[in-house]
Amino acid sequence: MPIEFHCPHCDKYLKTNDDKAGMQVNCPGCSGPLTIPDAPAAVATPAAGIFVGNVTNSVAARAVQPARHRGELLLVFGLLGWFVCSIFAVVAWIMANQDLAAMDSGQMDPSGRGLTQAGKIIGMIHLGLIALGIMVFLLIVVFVGVAGLAGIS
Ligand SMILES: [Zn+2]
Repeated sequence: MPIEFHCPHCDKYLKTNDDKAGMQVNCPGCSGPLTIPDAPAAVATPAAGIFVGNVTNSVAARAVQPARHRGELLLVFGLLGWFVCSIFAVVAWIMANQDLAAMDSGQMDPSGRGLTQAGKIIGMIHLGLIALGIMVFLLIVVFVGVAGLAGIS
């Protein structure tokens, strides 16, 4: 026998199988949380239940909303890596990687993807140049060392 009842939030007429009795579901009309009543045609939920339901509903809505992106911050960090301290470039790179992953999985606002990628690339180029500089320095050291040995012998 089907259970027929009304949503306590939006009063939408709802109907479901009686094996769903007592289950916690979201209203298909307003997506508010509701408990399917036991008896057919029972009108659900006392006022206290509606209040609690509304509170949990708003918490759930906040949790679903994606986090705001940090694109501007990452871009600033990338630039600070060039002009202030290379640590900022490392931070920009790591944070940008995390944020891009969060955007891919829908946990972060993807509208900042361009800024986030720009911050990451600025940080990466800086670190790449530092790595290049270190390699050139080491090559010079080796070259000078070899030249010195050659001069001695
Ligand atoms: Zn509803």
